[in-house]
Amino acid sequence: MASLELHEKMVLDGLEKIKDEIPFESPVNPVELSLDSEIQFHCHKGVSCFNECCRNIDITLTPYDILRLKRRFGMSSSEWVNQFTLPYPMDAHEMPGLKLATRSGTTACVFLREEGCSVYEDRPAACRLYAMGSMGVRKQGSAEVEELYFMVKEEHCKGHEEPRKLTVQAYLEEQGLLEYQEFNRNWRDIVLKKRSSGPTVGKPSPRSMQLFDMCSYDIDSFRKFVNSPGFTEVFDLEDEEKKGLNEDEDRLFQFSCRFLKQVLYGEQSIAVRPDARDRRMQRRKPSGAATESGGPDQG
Ligand code: SF4
Ligand code: SF4
Repeated sequence: MASLELHEKMVLDGLEKIKDEIPFESPVNPVELSLDSEIQFHCHKGVSCFNECCRNIDITLTPYDILRLKRRFGMSSSEWVNQFTLPYPMDAHEMPGLKLATRSGTTACVFLREEGCSVYEDRPAACRLYAMGSMGVRKQGSAEVEELYFMVKEEHCKGHEEPRKLTVQAYLEEQGLLEYQEFNRNWRDIVLKKRSSGPTVGKPSPRSMQLFDMCSYDIDSFRKFVNSPGFTEVFDLEDEEKKGLNEDEDRLFQFSCRFLKQVLYGEQSIAVRPDARDRRMQRRKPSGAATESGGPDQG
């Protein structure tokens, strides 16, 4: 699998800039591909390298990867994350990230079987995109984050020698990636914004990083959080909206991104009770203890 670490280094710099940074022997082909670009690639069970890419993995997981896979296994998000992932810092401020676990003592994916991927229908976005790479780039003067694509040609991968040609757009559709991109878009924007703000914003508080961790990778805890008295004391959600969030996990995740944008970047989209701060101060007074029972100070 292509190293996503390298992709991180590229984020926001644009392809022109990164050409110089790519190691001489990198499998990354730094030619920007548009959705209409034609690529030559076909991975199928008949290729001589079948399963080769899954024997040496370095896969960063996204929130939607985790939602799909934890549902497949009928597990809670924390159970699934504990069993099948490894934590890693996404940046110098230790923004929490997760990598897909490997089989004990090997570099092979924990889901690899002789007959192929055992979670194929719910395989992560990075597996779907390979043998392409992508990165979100905010071009100068634009507020929009644009997705750029490029080929990753690793020597062991014979899919590049197969005669099939198709456009990038057709490949993304074939691999079911559009749904993943759509779902992860807001979260990706949060990560990019944090990275691009760099040291000017300073190190986020441990509390902010805990919230990022929960909102990104632990939807079950986030649901409890949204239903907690502390959250209700600060945020003003209609009963109907709360019901919808409790019934629809995907919708709850999108809400968690709105919540994160509000907490991390002050982008207000969730109504805050006007008296939230006073009520919280009031509650703290008698005991004098500064215990956090729910949301951050928003009042
Ligand atoms: S999840 Fe499936 S496709 Fe992805 S690395 Fe593991 S075995 Fe391969
Ligand atoms: S063609 Fe490439 S992506 Fe497909 S199995 Fe072989 S190494 Fe993996």
